[in-house]
Amino acid sequence: MLNTYPDYYKNFSCIADKCPDTCCAGWEIVVDEESHEKYKALKCRYAEKIRSLISVDSDGDRVFTPCGNRCPFLLDSGLCEMYIELGHDFLCRTCRQFPRHETYFGARKETGLSLSCPEAARIITESPEPITFTTEEIHADIMPTAIDPTLYFTLIETRKTAINILQNRKFSIDKRIAAFLELSAGIQSLIRKNKLSEVKEICKNDYLGTDYEIGSHSGKKRVLAKYFNDFRSLEMLDKSWAHSLDTAENSTPASPVGYEWEYEHLMVYFVFRYLMTAAFDGDLLSKAKFAAVSYIIIRHLQAKNSDDKSARITAMQKYSKEVEHSQLNMDKILLLIKKSRYYSIDNLINILSEE
Ligand code: SF4
Repeated sequence: MLNTYPDYYKNFSCIADKCPDTCCAGWEIVVDEESHEKYKALKCRYAEKIRSLISVDSDGDRVFTPCGNRCPFLLDSGLCEMYIELGHDFLCRTCRQFPRHETYFGARKETGLSLSCPEAARIITESPEPITFTTEEIHADIMPTAIDPTLYFTLIETRKTAINILQNRKFSIDKRIAAFLELSAGIQSLIRKNKLSEVKEICKNDYLGTDYEIGSHSGKKRVLAKYFNDFRSLEMLDKSWAHSLDTAENSTPASPVGYEWEYEHLMVYFVFRYLMTAAFDGDLLSKAKFAAVSYIIIRHLQAKNSDDKSARITAMQKYSKEVEHSQLNMDKILLLIKKSRYYSIDNLINILSEE
């Protein structure tokens, strides 16, 4: 099997008690079947405690019964009691994997780090150098997935072109995002018309040579209000998130000047993580628009302390934790983006640089 991952991937290791946040609070941890079997068979003094702390939640998922909003194994020191008692191999799948994410496309797999972990966010935005990727052969079982190979290779070509556009530093980040949106709209139209043989041609278009009306939208306040309302309508992990969105909506967004490469990495992160998932539903454009609207919201969230790199990265991480980490939220926001004319390419491009 071939595995593709961003080159920063291997730099990650959990910083545990030094983590400024924790992935062991705020959400329920689902116990997968394999780990549950392991816990049932476990014979040691600690086994009874694990078994007593597993319950079924209102969605019917088997979870570690939260203590307040924390995992019951999270110690005050910030360390994991189960890890200390039994070691890494006994953690359930969620805890062993987080913040790593993986997606299978038949005989190919893609692996990355989620921005919702503060250490992953730090690593993703650490180096100003353009993000690069590695593909290597690994020994793993092939996961059968129902994807159309022609669409899959179309998306590979599209993503390569999209990343080249987003990493072209001769142009402002706003212009690169506008060009990326136009590319995505063009490819989506070919997918809809079933004309995938024309993708190579359309990828050669000079998207960066085009003039876009960036920041010239007369109704941008109304459009922005709609975006913020949509994000406010999502399920919230942390109650203070609503307040962060309110403050952000009324703030002038952080200027990208001086650290445009952080936004370039942010966009490449979204593109790497989501564009290929259009292989499952044929909807490339909503994923591209999600990346663009995330950039817009994040720049607003960064308005406060925008000179401070760690505050900028924390804003990205919090956004990811609230929005991306919940599949329910992702499904809802992608549907809103797909259905609402407020997320038209014109609106998104015109609002990119609204300072
Ligand atoms: S959020 Fe990341 S760094 Fe923090 S405890 Fe979880 S995996 Fe470790």
